[in-house]
Amino acid sequence: MKTSLTLFIFFVTLNVWAQSNNENVFLITLDGLRWQELFQGADSSLVGDKDYVKNIQELKSNFWKDDLIARRRALMPFFWEVIAENGQLFGNRNFQSKVNCTNQQWFSYPGYSEILCGFADDQRITSNDKIPNPNVTVLEFLNQQDQLKGKIAAFGSWDVFPYIVNEGRSGVPVNAGFEAIQQPDLNERERLLNSLQKQIPSPWSTVRFDGLTYHIAKEYIKRNSPRVVYIAFGETDDFAHDGHYDAYLKSARQTDAFIKDLWDYAQSHPQYKDHTTLVITTDHGRGTLPKDTWRSHGTKINGADEIWIAILGPQLSTTGEMKIKEQLYQNQIAATVANILGFKYQPNDQVGAPIPLK
Ligand SMILES: [Zn+2]
Repeated sequence: MKTSLTLFIFFVTLNVWAQSNNENVFLITLDGLRWQELFQGADSSLVGDKDYVKNIQELKSNFWKDDLIARRRALMPFFWEVIAENGQLFGNRNFQSKVNCTNQQWFSYPGYSEILCGFADDQRITSNDKIPNPNVTVLEFLNQQDQLKGKIAAFGSWDVFPYIVNEGRSGVPVNAGFEAIQQPDLNERERLLNSLQKQIPSPWSTVRFDGLTYHIAKEYIKRNSPRVVYIAFGETDDFAHDGHYDAYLKSARQTDAFIKDLWDYAQSHPQYKDHTTLVITTDHGRGTLPKDTWRSHGTKINGADEIWIAILGPQLSTTGEMKIKEQLYQNQIAATVANILGFKYQPNDQVGAPIPLK
């Protein structure tokens, strides 16, 4: 009896270990995409405002539906047709499901650092300047594990990501900003991406278009089959700061399509199929006033600490859109990513606990 119990425990442990030992995680962020758009679709107070929308009729025909369910599905179909059906979505404050930053700054570098490190550092992470992160991210932690070393990569539209991830110290390769793909034997698609990146002017000096970031990441994934990938999309925040609500919505929908494309690729690939989890979130929220805090964020902006989290993967029970009173925090994402891969991540007492998968 005792032997069989020991054997049983051994096999259960082996099974859990084997499961997590071949898991993969794609961590994805959309800079400053509000929970309001994710859960409610296009905002009625902005979608028809000529100050923020060039062609109101065109935008409304694409994104406006009187019914909230149809409206949010029109904006982010993969989230509502696939993640809501098979995964989990946290942060719809209409149901008291809340996710907040714990950092007290509510802008990009502190938000990304909290996501990736699992704790806020309001003493040292106080600007968006290109300062190498003094703290170790979960990507760096995972890169120190024998099974994962060299199987982690990060991609960002914003050129500060090599600093946030501390590429030099962590050894995690980061392609961000306007960086070309550096590879001795570039394939035709990679050469084209490098050319387009130079030929298509970005409206911003520090952020490239997300289409470039996505396809650069995808080529890397096809070539190297990394176990952990971080992709940081940036357009939504920049279009919002610029006051272009039309471009903000179109970018959100396009990013949803990129995530679908990545998921479809994963499900068609033997390493990734049924062994890959998507963890998707944002670095901060934005204001809610049409004139015009929606464009901005930071501690002076009410609601800019309100964020959301979406998870889709094989270890998850399907609960879809959370409709229960609950409080999660941005500092739980790092430990959640590690937990999916079978690692306990707790470098200090401030690190948020992993979100339970079942
Ligand atoms: Zn941001």
